[in-house]
Amino acid sequence: MAIKTVTTVAELQAESARLLTSKGGTSQGLVPTMGALHQGHAALARTAVKHNDVVVATIFVNPLQFGDATDLDRYPRTLDADIALLEEQGVDLVFAPTVDEVYPDGEPLVRVTSGVLGEKWEGASRPGHFDGALTVVAKLLHYGIPGAGLPASGKSQGGLPAYRAYFGQKDAQQLALVRRMVADLNFPVKIEAVPTVRAADGLALSSRNRFLDEAEREAALVLSRALRLLEERAMSRQPLDLDSARAMVESQPLVALDYFDVVDPGTLDPLAENCRETPFRGEALAIIAAKVGPVRLIDNMPLAS
Ligand code: AMP
Repeated sequence: MAIKTVTTVAELQAESARLLTSKGGTSQGLVPTMGALHQGHAALARTAVKHNDVVVATIFVNPLQFGDATDLDRYPRTLDADIALLEEQGVDLVFAPTVDEVYPDGEPLVRVTSGVLGEKWEGASRPGHFDGALTVVAKLLHYGIPGAGLPASGKSQGGLPAYRAYFGQKDAQQLALVRRMVADLNFPVKIEAVPTVRAADGLALSSRNRFLDEAEREAALVLSRALRLLEERAMSRQPLDLDSARAMVESQPLVALDYFDVVDPGTLDPLAENCRETPFRGEALAIIAAKVGPVRLIDNMPLAS
């Protein structure tokens, strides 16, 4: 069945309810994105399609999470190609609203606060970013609640449809925050994480990679190489020796390292004890961010032994 694109919340809810009814579906998946889609987003969409009867993808570049207006203006917008990619993965419905549709009264007075978890790492260099991101994710998760568009008579039949939303491990801090928001504020949705999709050479796919020139792209590979080094050390229960991995990144002249640390996957607090001389044990997340040419890149690697 051909994919359908809608731009209003009312259409989204009516159309997803119609799809649920016509398919006799019992589950709905939501895949929030900002567009400029690549194979990382495709993996999210495919996972959602595999596990849900109806899948809605959203494409919205959220002004609230951009500190810098130029960054917002230059964010790539490729709507037709995005819709084609989502259709190939089997997504049923695309919700691509305008800024006015999402914020009809202008900037919201009341927002989600990301707290201490939103102030560290990415939050430290992008103040307000996670409050803006969580606020729009909260709205999108509400729009996508399955059955919201069903007539009252349809709602009582059977139980509530299952509701799942898909986020990439690539944005580990966002994922941790969305999980906390959903748990702390009792959202009726299950958050599913999808592993990071990488190019063949290891670079994590990102909509921003297109702004790297050839030399910068080559230099950027040091991020995934350093993460992989830690992964190998963790798997073989060697000391992580984070300092030597940091030095490897810092030796690359085109890369300005912001942070590189090993943290608890839930709280994102550093696990200093576990990353120096003693052999690595347990579970952790290695996180890295660096500026490469004009682009700020982030990447991470789950560690386990
Ligand atoms: P964005 O459009 O950049 O806001 O990303 C939308 C969703 O796609 C987020 O949940 C991201 O974590 C996820 N995503 C972005 N890049 C990747 C990737 N390389 N692998 C897996 N998921 C990704």
